[in-house]
Amino acid sequence: MSLLDALQKTSGVALDPQAFDEDAIPGLVDEIFTTALEQRASDVHFKPKEEEFEVYFRVDGAMIHHKTFEKIYHHPIIARIKIISGLKIDEHRLPQDGKSNFVLSEGNEEVDLRVSILPTNHGEKVVIRLLRKNPHMVTLRDLGMLPNILLKVEKHLKDTYGMILTVGPTGSGKSTSLFSMVSTFDAEEYNISTLEDPIEYKINNVTQSQINVDIGFDFPDGLRTLVRQDPDIIMVGEIRDQKTASLAIESALTGHLVFSTLHTNSAVGTIQRLLNMKIDRFLITDAVKLIISQRLARKLCNNCRQAQPVPKKYYELFKEGGIDPANAFIYEAKGCEACHNIGYSGRIGLFEVLEMSPAIEEMIISDASAAMIEKQAVNEGMILLRKDALFKVATGDISIQEALRMMS
Ligand SMILES: [Zn+2]
Repeated sequence: MSLLDALQKTSGVALDPQAFDEDAIPGLVDEIFTTALEQRASDVHFKPKEEEFEVYFRVDGAMIHHKTFEKIYHHPIIARIKIISGLKIDEHRLPQDGKSNFVLSEGNEEVDLRVSILPTNHGEKVVIRLLRKNPHMVTLRDLGMLPNILLKVEKHLKDTYGMILTVGPTGSGKSTSLFSMVSTFDAEEYNISTLEDPIEYKINNVTQSQINVDIGFDFPDGLRTLVRQDPDIIMVGEIRDQKTASLAIESALTGHLVFSTLHTNSAVGTIQRLLNMKIDRFLITDAVKLIISQRLARKLCNNCRQAQPVPKKYYELFKEGGIDPANAFIYEAKGCEACHNIGYSGRIGLFEVLEMSPAIEEMIISDASAAMIEKQAVNEGMILLRKDALFKVATGDISIQEALRMMS
């Protein structure tokens, strides 16, 4: 039975064989995946509407419209996706989940596809996550840290014990930063072990373990075992609970360099979070060496961004950030061939890095307020995240809209 016959039979919709070329559908679907990967999309959305059928890509966190098809393509394209991901072609009323893979014809890169199908009032909607087998690993120097921040981080990577935390909301690039730091170590020289959920990047010679809570292998269990494996460097994917926090702090105080992430909004806020997790003040001040708070902003395409004088309404903001607005520019997204007409290309980190100091330790122990600690940190040279954002507006890395979004 041909695809067209199968479709007519299962969908109950009479399809005109002249209206589209059935044999072209597999090529069409392949082309969508190829283009999505070229544009570094993380997801492809196939969205049916009343009259049309649209394809969107998620690139650097933003939804980008790719193509609008005539509605007649809806069933054949969905059917093709179901075939390659082993799903029921005649099921239209229930959600389905499937897996597949896709090999890019050039470069032989294999990509895993996670397929999710949801019935909607306009027919089935498909969202596919594209998972590269060997994602490009960002180096510490590529994250977008200002030179003096980078120096501070590199200094603490030489510590023989203690804890380095990256913090921020979901999707702020915390694990990427963690990996870029851990991968600066020679894995032949140090025993590096990680506990992750999920394992995102694979690093040569590093012992990486996948947490599996369903079978009782959680972060605290993993940590207790890890410290018995004679580690030098430990990476804990995320500190989510009190037990993990206290074990991680303990490991940091017993001669290990511990890297982890926490879901908090600011560098100083992380201290309060650890206190809320019932970690002793003295242990925090002894163990924590560096807190890197971060966000991930869309980077303007440097091929087509356009400079403009700073609008008057942003003068105050620039002055607060220590930048003279009369002598600065802001840059706007335009779109060109190099950025697939999006105006943005890639992402850049915005950072706020708190370094533990004798004065800050003293303030934590005497229960000073977060505002007081932040003020002291700024006096000692900490650049607030909003100032880093503004600086990157002035250098043309990000748009003012993106900076304001990150500050809120
Ligand atoms: Zn461009």
